[in-house]
Amino acid sequence: MSEHTLTVAGVAVDTRHWIGGERVASAQTFPDISPIDGSTIGTISRGTAVEAAAAVAAAKAAFPAWAGTSRAERARILHAIADGVEKRIEELAIVETTDNGALVRSHRRGVMPRVAHNFRFFADWLQSLDHEDFDTRGHANHVSWDPAGPCVLITPWNAPLMLATWKVAPALAAGNTVVLKPAEWSPLTASLLADIAAEAGLPAGVLNVVQGYGSEIGDALTSNPDVRRISFTGSVATAKRIAASAAANLTPLSLELGGKSPLLVFADADLDLAVDLAVEQYDNAGQVCLAGTRLLVEEPVADEFTRRFVEKASALTQGDPRDEATDIGPNIHPRQLEKIDGFVQRAVAAGARAVIGGHRKDGQYYAPTLLTEVAQDSEIVQEEVFGPVLTLQTFTGEDEAVRLANGTRFGLAATVATGDPGRAERVTARLVAGTVWVNCFFVRDLQAPFGGSRLSGVGREGGTWSFDFYCDLKNTVTAPNGWTDH
Ligand code: NAD
Repeated sequence: MSEHTLTVAGVAVDTRHWIGGERVASAQTFPDISPIDGSTIGTISRGTAVEAAAAVAAAKAAFPAWAGTSRAERARILHAIADGVEKRIEELAIVETTDNGALVRSHRRGVMPRVAHNFRFFADWLQSLDHEDFDTRGHANHVSWDPAGPCVLITPWNAPLMLATWKVAPALAAGNTVVLKPAEWSPLTASLLADIAAEAGLPAGVLNVVQGYGSEIGDALTSNPDVRRISFTGSVATAKRIAASAAANLTPLSLELGGKSPLLVFADADLDLAVDLAVEQYDNAGQVCLAGTRLLVEEPVADEFTRRFVEKASALTQGDPRDEATDIGPNIHPRQLEKIDGFVQRAVAAGARAVIGGHRKDGQYYAPTLLTEVAQDSEIVQEEVFGPVLTLQTFTGEDEAVRLANGTRFGLAATVATGDPGRAERVTARLVAGTVWVNCFFVRDLQAPFGGSRLSGVGREGGTWSFDFYCDLKNTVTAPNGWTDH
């Protein structure tokens, strides 16, 4: 085993970049720490502008051949990548859990199968992407979906491989080449993806993976004039930096950012269902962009809802995410934990009441928390915490519900619990959100548009919308009778 390999539960992971079909080490490294127990998993190549430039150059060199590869052949390779993911679900699950602390049971049964599905879905959707033809006064119009070129894909730590492949798969399917930069707090599965893609026959340079701190390698990627698309999932603050950097070349951007989504519970809702939906918001220790962290409950049922919520939330098991019985794992990093606790302590100091939780636990764990007596304009209601912290506010009637729901700078998602279909229709029509769920949560079809309004993002991805983003659409207009006989 080389000095550039680490092992997690017997799974070997290369700690170097993957550039132009070769492993490339940086002179410097950074430590990769497991949130489960704070142990160092290993050290990872710490990329700089040099590796960023090399990766974009490799993607640029590989682009013409990959763009010229038939759709059917691209799809065949993407399906082969999906096969490789499916063969390694257990390995990917345990590595991801060790790296980012999310539940292994979710990785085994939901997330990793979905990673494979990301490749299959976009491979198949590509086949159904019609070139359009129409006539203008005898002129033949032909609209084609041309690959755009090298794409830089930058992803966060909360669902590393899931979010990465949700970008990688459509970008590759469209005929683009890719430089993927995973988050420095969870870099491992991106490296395994490079192995899987190579084994599946993806040509060298089509997928490149660079590791490192965003502050050190990010700008060199996003300001590179050879990059044709940037797709980013992460925080609003980083998105603003990336947008400024991309502005130098007017590189088109897709931004999937944070949220402060509401979960509206009307008095006519099935209360047990509403409580289940609310408790689900603690999934992944609250580190889910879509989480409905603001519980808005109609006055007459607020006490009963709270009682049932506390009962159900108190029964959650918190602990080692490698244990199948665990419901809530650790938070990703000591810095994130500090941030979460800071939000909660400031809220309590401002008058909020912690009905449950409100404190840290041993290690990197935070007690699932519900805060009441919070003002709409307070920090805890307005800012994304990204931890297991929910607020509860009450409302009377649809107008107030909608006013509170829409009353932040975000617009990623919303959930409505009601027993009245007419109310569901009226309320959802007035909500500002990229996704609205009615009496359900987290049901996501890859053909649906996904993204956020306001500070939650720019653009939509999913199904045809992904190809809209990753392709240059071209209309070719041919004159009638314009051909010369030779
Ligand atoms: P982050 O913005 O700190 O980091 C995200 C990525 O950006 C990392 O890979 C990081 O290295 C990189 N980065 C940092 N600085 C950079 C720079 N100057 N240039 C280029 N890249 C840079 O976000 P995070 O803390 O990793 O993720 C949490 C955030 O992501 C939350 O706000 C969450 O809501 C959001 N998120 C959104 C979605 C969505 O689909 N809308 C999904 C998951 C997470």
